Amino acid sequence: MKIETKTIHAGVSPDPVSGAIMTPIYQTSTYVQEAPGKHKGYEYARTQNPTRDALQNNLAALENARFGVAFSSGLAAVDAIIKLLSPGDEVIASNDLYGGTYRIFRKIFEKYGIRFHFTEMAETEDIRKLINKNTRLIWIETPTNPMLNIIDIKAVCGLARERGIRTVVDNTFASPYLQNPMDLGADMVMHSATKYLGGHSDVVLGAVLCSDEALAEALYFIQNSSGAVPGPQDCFLVLRGIKTLHVRMDRHCENGRAIAAFLKNHEKVEKVYWPGFSDHPKHQVAAAQMRDFGGMISFTLKGNRFEDAHKVLSNTKLFALAESLGGVESLIGHPASMTHAAIPKEEREKSGVVDSLIRLSVGIEHKDDLIADLEMALGKL
Ligand SMILES: *Cc1c(COP(=O)(O)O)cnc(C)c1O
Repeated sequence: MKIETKTIHAGVSPDPVSGAIMTPIYQTSTYVQEAPGKHKGYEYARTQNPTRDALQNNLAALENARFGVAFSSGLAAVDAIIKLLSPGDEVIASNDLYGGTYRIFRKIFEKYGIRFHFTEMAETEDIRKLINKNTRLIWIETPTNPMLNIIDIKAVCGLARERGIRTVVDNTFASPYLQNPMDLGADMVMHSATKYLGGHSDVVLGAVLCSDEALAEALYFIQNSSGAVPGPQDCFLVLRGIKTLHVRMDRHCENGRAIAAFLKNHEKVEKVYWPGFSDHPKHQVAAAQMRDFGGMISFTLKGNRFEDAHKVLSNTKLFALAESLGGVESLIGHPASMTHAAIPKEEREKSGVVDSLIRLSVGIEHKDDLIADLEMALGKL
C-alpha cells in the first residue's frame, strides 16, 4: 500500500459496535471484565486503549515498522528510548539537536550515569572515533534543527550495525511522508507528532516505531511503567491530522521551495539553509533519502545583528512568532533566544546558531502572501 493510502486507512477500521467510520475516542480509565482475568484485551487505560492502539498501528505502518508505541509528548518518547539504557552506557548524538532533546540528555540522564557524546556526523569517521565498548545507541536527527544539516542515515546505521550498536532517527522534521529511516537501516524511529503528523498545532504527542519484537516489548514496558501515555482525545486528533499528511506535506514543500529561492536572492539575507539547494553540502544525500525537501528553512542576515533579527521577527504579520513547527500556519522563530536558549551560547554558535539566525516553518497558505510578508518585514531593515 502506498503512503497516501496508509495515512487514511492503516491501523483503523470501522467501529464494530456502530459502524462509525472514524475511530471512537475511548474516554475511559478502565474496562469491565466478565470474570476475574477474563477480558477483551483491555484492562486499564494506562496499559491499553483502543484509540491509542489505532494510532500506534497507523504510525507503525507509515514508517514501515511492525510496532508503534505512543507517548504523551515527543520528549516522553525520547525519555523512553534513553530508559532502555543503563548507567555506564554511552550515546553518540548529532550536535545540532532539538534543544529539548539536548536538555534531557545533559540535565536529566547524565545524572543517572549515562554519557552523551555530540558530533557533527557529517562523516562516519567522526562517529567511529567516539565508539567504544560502552556505546549502545547512536541518535540521529536529520534534517537537523535549526541548521538543516543532513546526516546520511544509511551510512551511519550501517556503521552502527557492524558494531552491534542500536540506532534511532528523530524523523520529526521530515515526517514519514518525506523520509522512512527504517528502510535505511534504523532500529527505531522517533516522532514528535506535535509537528507535521498532528499538523494543526492543537496537540502534543510523541511516538517510537520499531520492528524488533523484543525492543517493542521493552518500550511497551516503559510506556506502562513510567506512564507517560497520551490521552485518547489526543490520539484521535493525531489520527485525524495524519489523514491529510501527504496533501499538507506536498504544499509545505512547494511553498518551502519558493520561499528558499526568494530569500536566497534577497539583498539583506546572508545565507539560506535549505537542503533542496544543489549547493547545500549534503544535497545529494538529501535527494537520495528524502522524497522532497520540506518546509523548514533557516537564514541569517547580513551583519549578523541580534537587533535586526528581532526587527524581522516582530514585523511579519502572517508568519506568527512562536516556537514549534509543522502546522498549517507559517511560524517564524529565533533559535538563539527561543528553541535553543537552553544551549550555551558558545556551544550553539559552534553549530551555526548565531544571533541573526531566523527559522521558518513554512505553512500551507498561498506562497505569494508568505513572500510578500517576508518582503515587508525585511524591508524594515
Ligand atoms: C518538538 C520536537 C521534539 C519534542 O517533541 P514534543 O512533542 O515537543 O515533546 C523532539 N524533536 C524534534 C525534532 C522536535 O521538533
